[in-house]
Amino acid sequence: MRTLTLATSIIALAAPAFADEVNIYSYRQPELIQPLLDGFTEKTGIETNVAFINKGLTERLKAEGERSPADIILTVDISRLSEAKEAGVTQPVESDVLTNNIPAALRDSDNHWFGVTYRARIVYASKDRVAEGAITTYEDLADPKWKGRICTRSGTHVYTLGLLSAVIEHDGAEAAEEWLKGVKANLAKQPAGGDREQVKSIWAGECDIALGNTYYMGAMLKDPEQTQWANSVRIEFPTFEDGSGTHVNISGVAMAASAPNPDAAKAFMEYLASHEAQKIYADVVNEYPSDPETPPSDLVQSWGEITPDDTSLTDIAAHRAEALKIVERVDFDG
Ligand code: FE
Repeated sequence: MRTLTLATSIIALAAPAFADEVNIYSYRQPELIQPLLDGFTEKTGIETNVAFINKGLTERLKAEGERSPADIILTVDISRLSEAKEAGVTQPVESDVLTNNIPAALRDSDNHWFGVTYRARIVYASKDRVAEGAITTYEDLADPKWKGRICTRSGTHVYTLGLLSAVIEHDGAEAAEEWLKGVKANLAKQPAGGDREQVKSIWAGECDIALGNTYYMGAMLKDPEQTQWANSVRIEFPTFEDGSGTHVNISGVAMAASAPNPDAAKAFMEYLASHEAQKIYADVVNEYPSDPETPPSDLVQSWGEITPDDTSLTDIAAHRAEALKIVERVDFDG
């Protein structure tokens, strides 16, 4: 793989395209996807070129238009993938491998994007101060019994908006607004910082439960300073009162609208959906493989059983604008 810096990538990638390469715009850090790229090249002989883009991926593709060298977009969160689709910078990919290995809830109904792995938005609960099984539903987080005990990141962050969109989908917009008000009333402090900072706050005794994504547990355990934060909490997998499973979101892939190497790009997408790549990728990022036949890593399994919500992510993402309005009306961060 040739890793290209932002400044040079357009020039470097704009060289005449060869059929045996694929150009990837990745929101994910190069070291996280390297094992996959190696596996792909070994299997197919197709070389990969990666431009790491941590901001404005859709804007960049729009600006580049038909001259864009990008074949593949790798990013996280349904909001970014649906934004790319709506902006017209992706194209549908018809593939039995993709539709057979990736469950319908985790891919676009028009085949514009596919979830490679998924993460759950769960509750980190203090091992010392929260009884096991005390939290069973997301709705419960609005119960006054948690007053002054909850920590979470900003209401306008995509993770919060994703969860709130799911609450709207399951309980309706009115109930979702009441729910968010209830959660706000239970906050121990103003929302700030990332998911790991909330776990740190539990460790420090500032709150007892926090909302966070599953893979951060893996990340904290790898960091000597953060291991003690991780060890102060247990993961609980809340579900919805209507019986739906735990809220999940995806790390996904899409083919760029103007992909100069569509065949190589399709081969790359199909490789990502293969058992081999599913295992490699899910292990590296501490996420759940989208392919139901590929088991999560031992570490991820040690966090407990998950029943993911099988509601289509497209349906959930459709509530995104409404979710943001609710966050603003509730003044969640205020
Ligand atoms: Fe994250």
